[in-house]
Amino acid sequence: MLYQRSSRLFAEAEQVIPGGVNSPVRAFKAVGGTPVFIKEAKGAYLYDEDGNKLIDYINSWGPMILGHAYEPVVNAVIERAKKGTSFGTPTALETEIAALAVSMVPNIDKIRFVNSGTEACMSAVRLARGYTSREKIIKFAGCYHGHSDSFLIQAGSGAVTFGTPNSPGVTQGTAKDTLLAQYNNLENVKALFAANPDEIAAIIIEPVAGNMGCIPPAEGFLEGLREVCTANGALLIFDEVMTGFRLAKGGAQELFNIKADIVTFGKVIGGGLPVGAFAASGKIMDYLAPSGPVYQAGTLSGNPLAMAAGLEMLKALNSDTKIFERLEEKTAYLEKGIHKILLEEEVSHTINRVGSMISVHFDKKPVTDFATAGNGNNDTFKKFFHGLLDNGVYIAPSAYETWFITDALTYEDLDYTLNAIKKVAGTL
Ligand SMILES: *Cc1c(COP(=O)(O)O)cnc(C)c1O
Repeated sequence: MLYQRSSRLFAEAEQVIPGGVNSPVRAFKAVGGTPVFIKEAKGAYLYDEDGNKLIDYINSWGPMILGHAYEPVVNAVIERAKKGTSFGTPTALETEIAALAVSMVPNIDKIRFVNSGTEACMSAVRLARGYTSREKIIKFAGCYHGHSDSFLIQAGSGAVTFGTPNSPGVTQGTAKDTLLAQYNNLENVKALFAANPDEIAAIIIEPVAGNMGCIPPAEGFLEGLREVCTANGALLIFDEVMTGFRLAKGGAQELFNIKADIVTFGKVIGGGLPVGAFAASGKIMDYLAPSGPVYQAGTLSGNPLAMAAGLEMLKALNSDTKIFERLEEKTAYLEKGIHKILLEEEVSHTINRVGSMISVHFDKKPVTDFATAGNGNNDTFKKFFHGLLDNGVYIAPSAYETWFITDALTYEDLDYTLNAIKKVAGTL
């Protein structure tokens, strides 16, 4: 495949945008080469500036769960735009999407909309700190909760891909309030609570980690966190920016039957527009301004275009009773196919999968936390990535990323992908 136009566009972008991109992992730094510039997309396919057609396994890093340019969303945005794009006043639309989200997700009474997953997680932590009058939080190495200061401590994908787990610009003062634990290690968490009695406001976790590849929670791990939080008066924050409205209608809380105290959303909830949200019981959410003392705001929060897109997306997911089953079946089909091929070609690998989140790690040891996720960050992955790209299959350009399966994928697309993988696996 040719990427001439993309190369030229990237060179032009580098002149006026740092690194040529508005979010680092897009830059292909981890795999080498030039990022592909996309011109348009429909369903499961991306079309780049050089005229290449790519089957998309990133799907805008999650949101396009029903495929690109999904018509109900596109039409809703067009119709809304004609009526004005922002008012800075309440709208009926905000209540409509809030009520729908609250009805779909367990254990939440109220939800506030923001403009990104970062904002949602940052605000959730402030709310937890305000509610508990405590300052420290626990996060897990390799989990990503957006780029706000408190979270840029071993933060997974984007951050680790570039070997800068701790970003300059994050102060020591901020870093000292973020305690780091290992994913799937409950003893580690208990030790932190023992060492910091009555100081920990919350644990924030990706209930299925998705920013160090896909890592499922070990049996009993999330239950253990729930118990430890309750026993110590800390809140459990599920960062469901990736898992929300993807693993089930009610996200990981529903899938694992665990009650979090605060839940954050992003990605799917915006239908491809910039949306994040955080939600909890009425008691906790009423701590927020203007009903309570914890301040949080946004000029464009609840923006009508974003809300119209999100509402259509949630309606579609809410009314299609088989959607999550189909996603599960398609992703399981892919998993089985890839495993068979890599075995036949004698390529060392581990595949992790939960529902429609899947990652292939080129190392045969189990991948259960940040340290083991690093085993698969190797030249085999880079060859695999570029081989697939040259064969029209677009996976995330980092060994630390999850693939996101969209319902727009047909079994023909999946077979095409498996064929491409077979071709590439022979060269690894
Ligand atoms: C993507 C992501 C975020 C950040 O969301 P943005 O919209 O990129 O700010 C936070 N948490 C998780 C789990 C994510 O996957």
